[in-house]
Amino acid sequence: MLIGIPAETMAGETRVAATPETVKKLKAQGHTVRIQAHAGVAASMPDAAYEAVGADITDAAAAWGCDMVLKVRAPQESEMALLRPGTVVVGMLNPFDGAGLQRMAQAGLTAFALEAAPRTSRAQSMDVLSSQANIAGYKAVMIAADKYQRIFPMLMTAAGTVKAARVVILGVGVAGLQAIATAKRLGAVIEASDVRPSVKEQVESLGAKFIDVPYETQEEKEAAEGVGGYARPMPQSWLDRQKAEVAKRVAAADIVITTALIPGRAAPVLVTEDMVKAMKPGSVIVDLAAAQGGNCPLTEANAVVVKHGVTLVGETNLPALVAADASALYARNVLDFLKLVLTKEATLQIDLQDDIVAACLVAHEGVVRRS
Ligand code: NAD
Repeated sequence: MLIGIPAETMAGETRVAATPETVKKLKAQGHTVRIQAHAGVAASMPDAAYEAVGADITDAAAAWGCDMVLKVRAPQESEMALLRPGTVVVGMLNPFDGAGLQRMAQAGLTAFALEAAPRTSRAQSMDVLSSQANIAGYKAVMIAADKYQRIFPMLMTAAGTVKAARVVILGVGVAGLQAIATAKRLGAVIEASDVRPSVKEQVESLGAKFIDVPYETQEEKEAAEGVGGYARPMPQSWLDRQKAEVAKRVAAADIVITTALIPGRAAPVLVTEDMVKAMKPGSVIVDLAAAQGGNCPLTEANAVVVKHGVTLVGETNLPALVAADASALYARNVLDFLKLVLTKEATLQIDLQDDIVAACLVAHEGVVRRS
């Protein structure tokens, strides 16, 4: 099969959907690979490294004009004309963007949105949400440490003692767990909150304290358990109690990292303006939900702002700030997914009995598909 890797054109997108490592494997499987010149440069992967493993370095039109196109982001509107009907597109195509899916279906594309894969053991090696959230959680702590005017670990020196930083993590999915682990390695004292009860044990096993907000009704308990491992909106009664608990911890915190998301919806507000006002000057909030409206209403997407003496970081694409490793993991996710849709003879097969394939297929034969 002829596989193309165009350069990403979305502002700030530095990742690339295939690396020399994965291109080498695609070549070994009998595919021809075209990569747009400089597509990997922002991720520290020069054209020569792709050429060395047998890729053809091409212009944009040739990279888009393939049987299959591997992408990080969904094709931009301006790029749709470069795709011919029947092309298979694989990437983070945003399954909640109805208009985008419609555009791809109308263009006759067969589109696989990898974010839609179920969070099952079999899908783990192709789980792009996890691989990228892991990187985002790490980078959030790095940015917090950079903006914070004090240090993370406790220091006992001849010039006096410096207290360890107090870090509060709100939302403990993949990103939150990595943020805890990273902050712990830097010597911080950490507390964390999530709606899902299964998280408590994970938080404690990483050496952090869980902010417990017990469930008082069956409705609260069922909502907290969510669907497919994902959170659902919690009843107001629980949210009010969580808010009161979180407010106390946030007021005492030096760093707050928020990662709370509910798929397909605006992010829940967990840190209100009053809570920010109660924080110490010089504290830092890194809001990983900035692209979904933020877990703090004072966050500004793609900006670093100081409000009430607190620095708020609203970076919406943290993995792109760690482009080389984020691309390496993403490209391996893509390669693993391709095993499900490409035969040994290098042809496409769409097995809708396969739950991962069925979940990821969002456009096919002119129709938007949502499983
Ligand atoms: P996510 O990015 O969708 O959300 C981040 C976290 O925010 C979640 O833990 C969620 O519970 C939490 N949250 C939502 N509303 C909140 C609120 N009001 N207060 C506090 N926290 C709130 O999460 P994710 O990292 O994508 O993980 C989603 C699920 O998938 C989890 O259950 C995770 O364990 C599971 N998972 C499974 C696998 C696997 O089995 N292969 C792999 C990765 C993740």
